[in-house]
Amino acid sequence: MEKINGRIISSGIGMGILKTLYRAMDIEKIVMNRANTSDAKDVQVEFDIFEKASNIIKNYYISLCKKDEQTTDIFEALSQLATDEELAENVQLSIKKKLYTAEYAVYFVSRNLMKTLEVLDDEYIRQRARDIEEVADKIILKIIDIKDNVNMENPNNIALNNDLAHILIVDKLIPEMLINDNGEQLKGVIASICPDNSHAAIIARIKNIPVISGINIDKLTENDYAIIDDRDSTLIINPDEVTRSYYERRLRDSEKAIKDLTKYKDIAAIAKSGKYIKVCANVSGLDDIKAAIKNGADGIGLFRTEIVFMNRESAPTEEEQLLVYSEAAKLMRDKPLVIRVYDGGMDKPLKFIKSLDKVNSKEIIDERGIKLLLQNEKIFKAQLRAIYRAAVYGNISVMFPMVSYKEELDKTQEIIKNVKGELELENISYKDIKIGIMIETPSAVELSATLTRDIDFVSIGTNDLIQYTFSKDRTDGTQTYLDDKEYEKLFGMIKTTTDNAHKNNCKVSVCGELAGDLKFTDKFIEAGVDELSVSPSKILLLRKQIIS
Ligand code: PEP
Ligand code: MG
Repeated sequence: MEKINGRIISSGIGMGILKTLYRAMDIEKIVMNRANTSDAKDVQVEFDIFEKASNIIKNYYISLCKKDEQTTDIFEALSQLATDEELAENVQLSIKKKLYTAEYAVYFVSRNLMKTLEVLDDEYIRQRARDIEEVADKIILKIIDIKDNVNMENPNNIALNNDLAHILIVDKLIPEMLINDNGEQLKGVIASICPDNSHAAIIARIKNIPVISGINIDKLTENDYAIIDDRDSTLIINPDEVTRSYYERRLRDSEKAIKDLTKYKDIAAIAKSGKYIKVCANVSGLDDIKAAIKNGADGIGLFRTEIVFMNRESAPTEEEQLLVYSEAAKLMRDKPLVIRVYDGGMDKPLKFIKSLDKVNSKEIIDERGIKLLLQNEKIFKAQLRAIYRAAVYGNISVMFPMVSYKEELDKTQEIIKNVKGELELENISYKDIKIGIMIETPSAVELSATLTRDIDFVSIGTNDLIQYTFSKDRTDGTQTYLDDKEYEKLFGMIKTTTDNAHKNNCKVSVCGELAGDLKFTDKFIEAGVDELSVSPSKILLLRKQIIS
């Protein structure tokens, strides 16, 4: 048993088998070291393993088809690809003629196929190349899995889709990793780097996935059993029986403590002052919305749409978005749902939204939020159309991130007007909805009296406000620590925003991570905020704190 100290980024106790997250580069490295079989009599064995691995991956995709109607078509196509006849024939030929190992043959054939597809100027075909890569890599890893774990029933055998409780080992945690590993068996993450205000950290907290960072991951061994202990900020490797049962007991106790909080589910959070504070949830998908409802959220204060479509190469269509947003609205029934338009950029790059420097036509990488959308009007309009159409199904509002100047808001309002006009002309039903902006730059605070004149609500994004006011980079590895003076300045900015907004009849929410920090609940209430929006798992605790 070994104990390693780290820093807890997302709390909770995580218990499971260690699993390294393979990335494309690693696959190449792995197969290069396992390219050739030693002699021709191995050929049949390689054939058999290839067939077995392909079938396992096919079944894995079939199981995903049943999980979520919205993605059935995608997984059905991937399941067919896993046992594609042409792919199989070429792999078998490479094993037979070149005496390649099964894993190298799959790598060789898939990469060749991808090369021929990638040169074609057709997004659909290029997407197919990426599908081939995804399926091939899964088959390769499964082949390795089969070869290296003779006994497939062995609990230490890590199946590819993580059907055992596991803890991921990653170098730098990025949001995509948490979204791709959609297994319920993801019990934690060990990262070398994960800044505490990064989007990956936020998503981990929303999804209740314990994360420990600052760990030298080179010292960890795949398949070892590990425990993340949030109380002691430690990682325990290969715990003995006594330690393991101690943590199992603690896990059961914390589940019970959560149950005990359910009495706060249907109570209105009235503060000592008599003011009703709405307790809402930050979400990034339909599952999070279900968790928010389960925890008695008064509404959704922030729906991060960029996370829903983060893995997309091409922009999601209006219809695809309509499906998601209307489903979200229906889930919420008449409770408010604030949909934030794509906040792409920085550590949430969206492949389908680009920003061009007009002078030298080079891509700018540090643009974000509304600035990016205003440069990509077609994509912006498609999203707005989907949101306004989905509004028919519930109580939706729309919110714009990173607004810093009045001109950006004016241009946005003009686009909204056009979108509504077009929908009317096309006879498509939509609903007029409330408009809000995020206040997350010093400029927005300064201009809050003007910015709040023609809108219905604002939401203060303390994550970015802290970053842009105090020079605390959200993407580097350091801890976001503020001293007393900085907190005083921050709450002064919040008070300025609230006062200005209220003069314009604008409601004020706070949706940055600080909203869920119970040390500051009183300060937020004193500053006059009307709503706090936090991770679904923090709703009940926060409501308890407001009431008491
Ligand atoms: C914020 O900046 O506080 C916020 C809620 O937005 P995001 O974390 O998505 O940038
Ligand atoms: Mg922000």
